[in-house]
Formats: sequence, C-alpha cells, structure tokens
Amino acid sequence: MSNDKEQRHKEAMKKQKAKVDANIAAADEERGVAILLTGNGKGKSSSAFGMVMRALGYDHTVGVVQFIKGAQLSGEELFVKNKCPEVTLYQMGTGFTWNTQDRSGDIAAAEETWAQAEAMLQDERYDLVVLDELTYMIGYKYLDEQKILDAIKNRPREQSVVVTGRGGGSALQELVDTVAEIKDVKHAFRAGVKARKGVDY
Ligand code: ATP
Ligand code: MG
Repeated sequence: MSNDKEQRHKEAMKKQKAKVDANIAAADEERGVAILLTGNGKGKSSSAFGMVMRALGYDHTVGVVQFIKGAQLSGEELFVKNKCPEVTLYQMGTGFTWNTQDRSGDIAAAEETWAQAEAMLQDERYDLVVLDELTYMIGYKYLDEQKILDAIKNRPREQSVVVTGRGGGSALQELVDTVAEIKDVKHAFRAGVKARKGVDY
C-alpha cells in the first residue's frame, strides 16, 4: 500500500474503533436476553444449539425444550442426549409431528411439553433456555400466546431464552430483545439434494 493509502486506512480504522468503543460503553445494562430466531432460511435451530455450546463453555446451566418431534433424532439432539448429561433436554413425545392430523392429541402433547418449558422459565438455576420450534405452537393456536409471553417476560433476570421457528407473531417479536430473521436465498433441497447427515439433521 502507498503511504497515503496506509494513512487513510489507519484513520478509517481509528474512527471505526471510536464508534465501536462508544457503543460498548453505551450498552451498560447487565441481564439475560430473549432472542427470536425466525425466517424461512436455514440456520435457526443450529444457531440456537451454537448458543448452547457457548453457554456450556462457561459451565452455564442449559435447558432445551423441543416442540416438534422429528422422524429421527438429529445430530445435535444425539450429542446433547448422549454426551451432555449436564443439559436438560425435553422433547415433545408422541403427538405433534408434521404428519399428524390429530389436533386434540397434538394440543395435549404441546401442553405437556410447555409445562417443562414453563418450569425452566421459573427456575433461576437455568442460565439459558432454548425453546426450539415453539413458534408453531403459537401459529397453530395449540398453546395460549399470552401464557407464553408472560412466562418469557417474567423469567429470572439473569436467564436468557432463545425461541426458534418460522413466524412467531408480532407480540413475541415486540417482547423479545433480539429478533433475527434468516432469509431463504437458496436451499440445496430445492435443487434435488437430499438432506445431509451432520449438516441438515
Ligand atoms: P437448521 O436446523 O438446519 O438450523 P432451521 O431450524 O432453520 O434449520 P427448520 O425449519 O427447523 O429450519 O427445518 C429444519 C430442517 O429443514 C433442516 O434440515 C434444514 O436444512 C431444512 N430447511 C430449513 N430451511 C429450509 C428451506 N428454506 N428449504 C428447504 N429445507 C430447509
Ligand atoms: Mg429448526
């Protein structure tokens, strides 16, 4: 780089650093956060499990509740189940899958699963609670929306919660601190590529 270019780059970086430092100084509130990972693109659940890994790195206490039962356990579920006895994992048992047409059975399973989630959201021992695919329970009206909002709102101050799933509704978006919408630009599946072990499940 020419000296001139070098100098300009230095100045731009200095400005950028001042901006970042000011933003860091302004964020002075210390508390847990509520996060919604939504949108049609790939990466919601895997991001949530990424945060599980982060939290475990600090020996935090983690709970995961999954509201949709897949046809098979995915890799992260197997990992948590078999190799992370310190994570409390609850999966919706019989009942709702994409294939059932048994609404009252689904609702009973959703309620049972929600009871586990609610208990975690009232328990200050949990640093992080993941509610995977919870949005569909709101969308299908399997669970009462207000009940979910209240439980998230009234959770312990230091506890963080991550909700995943498409949709979720505006009330949930408003309540949580962080909303990230993953855009579906392209997905291999639509080009005929089979879901891949260790990547898609
Ligand atoms: P992941 O678990 O990979 O983070 P996700 O949680 O964002 O994905 P879900 O809607 O829960 O997405 O669906 C999970 C499965 O569906 C994964 O196998 C994922 O690769 C696949 N999938 C996600 N988005 C799409 C899409 N837009 N088109 C096709 N398949 C998708
Ligand atoms: Mg998912």
